Amino acid sequence: MPRIRKRKFGPGVPPPHERKPFRDVGRFLKETFGAKCYKVCVDGGFTCPNRDGTCGTGGCIFCGERGSGEFITESGIRNQIEVAMKKAQWKHHAEKFIVYFQNFTNTYAPVDVLRAKYDGALAQGDERIVGLAVGTRADCISEEVADLLAEYTQKSPKYYVQVELGLQTSDDRTAEFFNRGYKSERFTEAVEILRRRNLNVVTHIMLGLPGETKEHIKRTVEFLNRHDIQGIKLHSLYVLEGTRLAELYREGKFEPITYAEYIDWALYVLTHVSPELVIHRISGDCPRDMLVAPDWILKKKQILDEIIKTMEKNGWGQGEFYE
Ligand code: SF4
Repeated sequence: MPRIRKRKFGPGVPPPHERKPFRDVGRFLKETFGAKCYKVCVDGGFTCPNRDGTCGTGGCIFCGERGSGEFITESGIRNQIEVAMKKAQWKHHAEKFIVYFQNFTNTYAPVDVLRAKYDGALAQGDERIVGLAVGTRADCISEEVADLLAEYTQKSPKYYVQVELGLQTSDDRTAEFFNRGYKSERFTEAVEILRRRNLNVVTHIMLGLPGETKEHIKRTVEFLNRHDIQGIKLHSLYVLEGTRLAELYREGKFEPITYAEYIDWALYVLTHVSPELVIHRISGDCPRDMLVAPDWILKKKQILDEIIKTMEKNGWGQGEFYE
């Protein structure tokens, strides 16, 4: 007798990952650009002042040798973009694209070098590309860099511009331990510089940093709520092969948080940040072959589903307890 698969969702009820009781980036981009919009990641060939000796060496203890761009494989900026756009068109039916400079620190170069890289990537005239996103550090945001980025929002064609700041935590002691290389007050200054030009700020925060508890997460959320930011990315800290964190883990000096803790802390963040913030990510994304620990990090869909179901069960929306 054929096995009858039990239907988990009633007719017409979308699965949890499509319900998302928070301001999801996919929906936000579709509303903004009127079509399915996808971020294509590029490696612009930058380095990081936290690695080349300018403000530190060795980098953040969790940072891999590709500087957070482990999934990027194609060389040449335009080539990377074309390959990634084709893939996203085929796989996700994307029609519009945001070019995302992801690896290392993407504002860490003289302004004329930055301009050449950004111009080359945007290839003005390609109507499929509607935005520019740059991942960077708060201490690599200057008035000149912000002026350059603002130009892309003003001249024709006008682009959506998003600056992603890897704060990770508001706690300066934790930041010192993981070797961030700047104090959190520098983040405040960077946000002010960017917002004076109406540039969109997306802040990365990390759950499970060494020595951090839920109390630290609460303080980081309070800190974020005092800033004029437009989005957040939640990352679960994972141990990547070849990093200082992997050494600490193997020496028994670092223990990742559990799956249950991550769900609990992520729910705290989602229900305590502003309902206006766009949620760009709610878990980490680690290449399987480079992951040391924890294994649960790979269960991205399960994490998302559990967060959504818990929010629905409790009747919580994003910013439910935001003050
Ligand atoms: S700032 Fe970013 S790129 Fe630089 S070391 Fe830290 S995580 Fe890596």
